[in-house]
Amino acid sequence: MANRILIIEDEEKIARFVELELKHEGNEVEKAFDGREGLEKALSGCFDLILLDVMLPGLNGLEVLRRLRMEKDTPVIMLTARDAVMDKVSGLDAGADDYITKPFAIEELLARIRVALKKRGPVTVTATHNLSIKGVTLDEERYEVTVNGEVVELTNREFELLRMLMRNKNIVLDREKLMNEVCGYDYMGETNIIDVYIRYLRTKIDDRYGIKLIHTVRGVGYVVKE
Ligand code: CA
Repeated sequence: MANRILIIEDEEKIARFVELELKHEGNEVEKAFDGREGLEKALSGCFDLILLDVMLPGLNGLEVLRRLRMEKDTPVIMLTARDAVMDKVSGLDAGADDYITKPFAIEELLARIRVALKKRGPVTVTATHNLSIKGVTLDEERYEVTVNGEVVELTNREFELLRMLMRNKNIVLDREKLMNEVCGYDYMGETNIIDVYIRYLRTKIDDRYGIKLIHTVRGVGYVVKE
């Protein structure tokens, strides 16, 4: 079974090597080379596991983990330096599932990845709860959106798109990212299909209730602002 794995590691040689090994095992892999990019990918993508280096430019790994854990339950294995005992403790405290000390044998890393994945069970272990912004409430359990208590009828894709934006509030998501989430990674169509769905959502929510929920960021994508 293919898993989607995100590698957040600024040492490109290590990231590349681990990527090749993981792909060889049949996994899909994405990489990020600094903390900010990593966090953004981790929050907006749908990963089964994240390998997270502690010493990163931008945001350090512990900070990435702390922010990730406010929203997501994705299994995380920290990559730490040999003597950084504090990093290991802080990492586990902050919600890491495991850590591995650099330099590591790839077999050991693969074994730990298997354990972490098994422990968490199959894909999409995301907590269900209510997201609420500007009077718009999205109930992930009931699959329902209400505005000031009134139910808004949305199609599945509109719902997924809105959920993605609301989960990542205040973070600009580009069309490709949104499309991957809403249409699946195999979708090869035009990214402007997202613009069409956004237009539907705006008609049903922003325009109808006079709210400015979904903002366009020219040349980039969309963001829901608190
Ligand atoms: Ca590093």
